[in-house]
Amino acid sequence: MSGLYTRLVSGLFFPLHERLKKHTTVAVRKQMDASQWWPVDQLRALQLARLRQLLSHAQAHVPYYRNMFAEIGFQPDQIRDVAELAQLPFLDKSKIRAHTESLKADNAQGLARFNTGGSSGEPLIFYIGRQRVSHDVAAKWRATRWWDVDIGDAEIVVWGSPIELGGQDRIKHVRDQILRTQLLPAFEMSEAKLDSFIASIRRTRPKMLFGYPSALTHIAQHAQKRGVAMNDLGIKVAFVTSERLYDNQRATISQVFGCSVANGYGGRDAGFIAHECPAGSMHLTAEDLIVEIVNEAGVVQPPGVAGEIVVTHLATGDFPFIRYRTGDIGVLDTGTCSCGRGLPMLKEIQGRSTDFVIAADGTVMHGLSLIYILRDLAGVQSFKVVQESRALTRVQVVAGPEFQPSMVDQIVAGFRRRLGQGVAVQVELVDSIAAEKSGKFRYIISHAV
Ligand SMILES: [Zn+2]
Repeated sequence: MSGLYTRLVSGLFFPLHERLKKHTTVAVRKQMDASQWWPVDQLRALQLARLRQLLSHAQAHVPYYRNMFAEIGFQPDQIRDVAELAQLPFLDKSKIRAHTESLKADNAQGLARFNTGGSSGEPLIFYIGRQRVSHDVAAKWRATRWWDVDIGDAEIVVWGSPIELGGQDRIKHVRDQILRTQLLPAFEMSEAKLDSFIASIRRTRPKMLFGYPSALTHIAQHAQKRGVAMNDLGIKVAFVTSERLYDNQRATISQVFGCSVANGYGGRDAGFIAHECPAGSMHLTAEDLIVEIVNEAGVVQPPGVAGEIVVTHLATGDFPFIRYRTGDIGVLDTGTCSCGRGLPMLKEIQGRSTDFVIAADGTVMHGLSLIYILRDLAGVQSFKVVQESRALTRVQVVAGPEFQPSMVDQIVAGFRRRLGQGVAVQVELVDSIAAEKSGKFRYIISHAV
């Protein structure tokens, strides 16, 4: 029954939707369906050709890179190997913040503004062009199809970004209905909400779940507690992303929903970096992304050695992400995957975690619910949130010139709205936030229950 409907959506409605938005998503996905089977050398050659193209475009159209290349005497057309990327400096959030305007291409197409907390807790504004949207959507679509599900199959999304939640305008609502996507707000995890989530999932009988591993685990455990079976609904796969996936979470989700669990790694800023295949490997989106692993001194590391994940997104001519530091720690794999795909693999991703926080009344909420409060304030450059106990939460803020003293009260009020009015919230303005040994900022440390 769902087969025909899904084929209509996947083959007709969604392609039309993308074409109206002037996206080339369908063509890109079809190309990616073919190139995923290519041998590594062929993928590497594609990367080199596209890298040369991106860098030449940046030189011709992006003031930030035109100036930088002139300064360091870099010639994009002279590049003979992807590894020569290492001649270029890194891009990070503070550089994007300082050069937002000069990072825009003078011929950019349909730039859309994004604001993300990223995984480092530093708010960031950046832009995404149409080409990049097409490529990121195509990469996600391809990986979805690895799991024998497709756009148009019924889906439950457990998510928490106010951008997504607030963006439920009429057109998006209609689109979500056609795509059969239903959104459950991950921020509110009271007992009553969890009961209603379980009822929604049972009613919808989705083919796929999508959400934070912590949120899906939480729902799974609640179903277990209530003695409600969830493994009889025909759910094929749970896609998880945005946080580190722990083995016990994978086991719980898989057991309770009776499905596979597929891990994804990426972000709005860095792109759709890697996704798990049914054989269990995290395959890189190598057609679009060059991934380097660097040590603390910024030196590129060989496969097998852990370091910071640095990405160059090859579809970002409109607002280039070249050697962008993700702040996440990972290890490249050298082996091949039994699924037969030539796409290289990421062995491990460490240092991504967004925990839950707990309100005074015991409601469990996603840590992002607090992060969004800080992220939306102009002048907050970075922050760290430590929930010491249900009664006390400490916030450290590195404030920029736009920060107003009244914002301290806004932070306190915002946190109390989430955590409970009686909760003590201490805001401390600091010059810098102590980095952990991985070089990351830790924004939610722990919650005492
Ligand atoms: Zn594989």
